[in-house]
Amino acid sequence: MENLSLVIFFIFGTVVGSFLNVLVLRYNTGRSLAGRSGCFSCGKKLAWYELIPVLSYLLQGGRCRGCGSRISTQYPLVELGIGALFALIAWQSWPLWSALYHLAVWSILMAITAYDIRHKIIPDGMVYILIGLSALSVLLTEVRLQSIGWRVGVALSMALFFAALWHFSAGKWMGLGDAKLALGLGLLLGPSQGFAALLLAFWIGAAFGVALLLFRGRYATIKTEVPFAPFLILGAALAAFGHIDMAAVLSFFSFSNALY
Ligand SMILES: [Zn+2]
Repeated sequence: MENLSLVIFFIFGTVVGSFLNVLVLRYNTGRSLAGRSGCFSCGKKLAWYELIPVLSYLLQGGRCRGCGSRISTQYPLVELGIGALFALIAWQSWPLWSALYHLAVWSILMAITAYDIRHKIIPDGMVYILIGLSALSVLLTEVRLQSIGWRVGVALSMALFFAALWHFSAGKWMGLGDAKLALGLGLLLGPSQGFAALLLAFWIGAAFGVALLLFRGRYATIKTEVPFAPFLILGAALAAFGHIDMAAVLSFFSFSNALY
């Protein structure tokens, strides 16, 4: 893919990202998805030049032009994230249907990430779309009934694992939404990449937890609620785009053993 087309895909991605921002902000909150965005503090409606993805945020120094209050970093981050995602997928030179499929799946995952960080809950509607799309890919890519059963079984056991964590911690460690998300990711990635994604998610989550403890007081308290979905989705992205499966994880361990 030529560099210019990658740039065009990136820009198109940032525009999709700014629509996803509106969805993340308003979905399930009783607010209509239609209607122009405005500032939360002063209610000033945004003009067209204040709605340009990423650029408007940078030009305004991250502040509202009306009242000067800070604009959430969610906006530029989601726009940049979806832009990078579109360029990354375009770069893979997959067949069109496959590229469109991945654009849809990973855009939903990005929206779930931002929604969970903002509202501390995984919206059912988004995660059900993910499960539906993932189940569809299993049906379309697996030919034998046995391998379909195997993939569904493994994904269900991943979901059960999270449901157990949710049940035994009385919802403190995990939400039930994490179990539904694990089902969707398990179906999407298959057993080997799925387990690798789970391991990566727990490692990154643990590293993040340690960092929170170190900087406690300044940015967080020990009781700060940390949503887990972003780690799960980051683990899934690393596994899928970095081609990390259980064989890669195991060979990493035998490599680190060989060093000692
Ligand atoms: Zn304002």
